[in-house]
Amino acid sequence: MVNGWHTQEPASSDAIPLKGKDYLKRYYTSQHLESPMGGVLHELRVRPESDGSGSVLFECSASSLRYELRIPKATRRDKEKVREQQKEGRDPVCPRHEDPLEKLLRNGDHLVCPRCGVRYGRPA
Ligand SMILES: [Zn+2]
Repeated sequence: MVNGWHTQEPASSDAIPLKGKDYLKRYYTSQHLESPMGGVLHELRVRPESDGSGSVLFECSASSLRYELRIPKATRRDKEKVREQQKEGRDPVCPRHEDPLEKLLRNGDHLVCPRCGVRYGRPA
């Protein structure tokens, strides 16, 4: 069961990495990301990485250049938050997106956020 993840795609080695915490902060709160080239970044896809982190590929509306935002792996605190939700009998949501909430999806043996591609634990 692959849940529609595009894990077979080759790594986007031609994408330009987006650096800085601001990009992450804005991404987690679903704000528009501005391209370093002056346009708006349109999200193309989210990919779970083999080490548990995630990556998001964007295309700049002004330059058509592609950018990649690396999403850091789950912290111990993130994983605890997910386990607490499971203990309460809830379907866990991603500990990083608060508005709107994002339910974690099962991807093999892991719970993965469809918006950041990060693994947050195992299904209950
Ligand atoms: Zn997330």
